[in-house]
Amino acid sequence: MKVAVIGAGTMGSGIAQAFAQSDAVEKVYLCDIKQEFADGGKGKIKKQLDRQVAKGKMEQAKADAILAKVQTGLNTQAVDPDLVVEAVLEKMDLKKSTFKALEDEIVKNPDCIFASNTSSLSITEIGAGLSKPVVGMHFFNPAPVMKLVEVIAGANTPKETVEAVKKISETIGKTPVQVNEAAGFVVNRILVPMINEGINVYYTGTSDIQGIDTAMKLGCNHPMGPLELGDYIGLDVVLAIMDVIFADTHDNKYAASPLLRKMVRAGHLGVKTGRGFYVYNADRTKTPVDQL
Ligand code: NAD
Repeated sequence: MKVAVIGAGTMGSGIAQAFAQSDAVEKVYLCDIKQEFADGGKGKIKKQLDRQVAKGKMEQAKADAILAKVQTGLNTQAVDPDLVVEAVLEKMDLKKSTFKALEDEIVKNPDCIFASNTSSLSITEIGAGLSKPVVGMHFFNPAPVMKLVEVIAGANTPKETVEAVKKISETIGKTPVQVNEAAGFVVNRILVPMINEGINVYYTGTSDIQGIDTAMKLGCNHPMGPLELGDYIGLDVVLAIMDVIFADTHDNKYAASPLLRKMVRAGHLGVKTGRGFYVYNADRTKTPVDQL
């Protein structure tokens, strides 16, 4: 199987690695709008693999073989994949135009499946205007590690496409859960409002950053607190998901926290920009911003 991953950011690079690690996958095209972005995505994969080799969890030869399957470039190289997984920014227009260009000008394989890794957007709307159906294939971060794939059928997604993507997910060692189209699907519909509420709890002065994260870790047995998890996901992604769920439901319980919006405007997006609710130090430690 050949897979094209469109968008080589946090998710795209992880998804490319998840596919490249499977024996069923012979090639992964990791594509972005600039060659250097695509190469940066492959660089992240190399770092991950190096870490596993250093810990003795993977042989160097295996890591080299995985990396060798990943070919970087622009979207235009996705000519003959069996599966496209789109992982560009969470913007409807961008996703639609990306698939349109792939369908009209780039992908030549008529049997290629178009899948989107959207966290919250309507699969039906992403697929509108295309002759090929689109299916949701929602990985979780970090994609090489997290087992779940939400498989989402839009109104025009054939059952066979859904079944094919469930099977592909299993082939690469994931557990697919089929969900119906609804803003945020299952996990983000529950998780992202919780992160947003954690931000509001901080905004209204109920506790400090570390206090909130520690309380939720120890009180709910969560592996990460809501503020560190928001930083890890990317606060821009968290905001985009809140806005999508709110636009769909018009329910105030999905209104994004004013502090979340302000941080995104300021470019404090979390781990990927080096600062969110924590500052990420070069030695991999982190300091809550209210303790600076
Ligand atoms: P990101 O900002 O890390 O990466 C997005 C990448 O897309 C960037 O490298 C950008 O250059 C590239 N890009 C933009 N326009 C493009 C185009 N026309 N063609 C090719 N590449 C293009 O974002 P991310 O966190 O990886 O999120 C990507 C998608 O995955 C979003 O839809 C998001 O909602 C979804 N998602 C994110 C998470 C998460 O935890 N971050 C989890 C699941 C799903």
